[in-house]
Amino acid sequence: MNRSLIALMGAAALFCAAPAQAAKPIPVMLLDGEQGGPYHAWQETSPYLKKMLDQAGNFSVTVVTAPPAGGDFANFKPDWKKYKVVVANYDVPDERWSDELKASFAAYMQNGGGLVSVHAADNAFPKWQAWNQMIGIGGWRGRDEKSGPLWYFKDGKVVSDNTPGKAGSHGARQPFKIVNRVTDHPITKGLPTEWMHVADELYATLRGPGENMTVLSTAFSVSSNRGTGRDEPILMVLKYGKGRVFHTVLGHDLAALNCVGFIATYQRGVEWAATGKVTQKVPADFPTADKASTRADYNPPAGWTSPGGRPRPAAKK
Ligand code: ZN
Repeated sequence: MNRSLIALMGAAALFCAAPAQAAKPIPVMLLDGEQGGPYHAWQETSPYLKKMLDQAGNFSVTVVTAPPAGGDFANFKPDWKKYKVVVANYDVPDERWSDELKASFAAYMQNGGGLVSVHAADNAFPKWQAWNQMIGIGGWRGRDEKSGPLWYFKDGKVVSDNTPGKAGSHGARQPFKIVNRVTDHPITKGLPTEWMHVADELYATLRGPGENMTVLSTAFSVSSNRGTGRDEPILMVLKYGKGRVFHTVLGHDLAALNCVGFIATYQRGVEWAATGKVTQKVPADFPTADKASTRADYNPPAGWTSPGGRPRPAAKK
């Protein structure tokens, strides 16, 4: 072995032994400001979504609230690149954003940005092609077979299905079991393969381009609860240009957010979308295959009930 190689190995050993520097917090934008109806109460859920990231300890979260319908969008020009990841707790129709605003976000993602789509954020922007490429699949707001095929899990793999019909459905909010189909992804690595989620909407019949999409986790949508009888995508990761996307369909309301499985996969998904890595430990109270797990400090306020409002009307054919 020559001397320069030995010196190089010595330097490498020293480098590896050096104490880790305190990592700089990851800048996160939590985007909210509008949802498709009162049943998605972003004013209630955003503080909980922020608290989860604050508790993880490695994020610095800025809440950015978009103007309401008819608001001052001329001056809404977020500096996307200040953030490593944008968490969307946000659902609006296509016309809410100008082409310029859409292009600025798509460019941020193409250049290596991060996006996390939470629950009904995958209802947003049904006709914005780049958005639908980012999230892979979505529902409602008039989506149908023109939005792309159905995507679900069958015989051990993800399949697409060109059967026509509207996109987006769910039954009553009930607890359901989630199955991790990819167990070596940074987000799912070390988690129980099967885990119980608390009562939530189990999204089904989602449609979209499904490009560069990996379905990490699924849940079985039972026919007896207006379901499809299929294993539906629950957690997904996607590539968009140089950007990374984590898509969770979970989290309808405060009750649904109080699941250690939601909290941990969301915290891990935000870190992964921002950096491509997950440094967080799996919490000891993560749910098991037959027992859901909640935390007292995420209990909804006393007297809270899930926000009402009429269900969204079915998409017109
Ligand atoms: Zn919902």
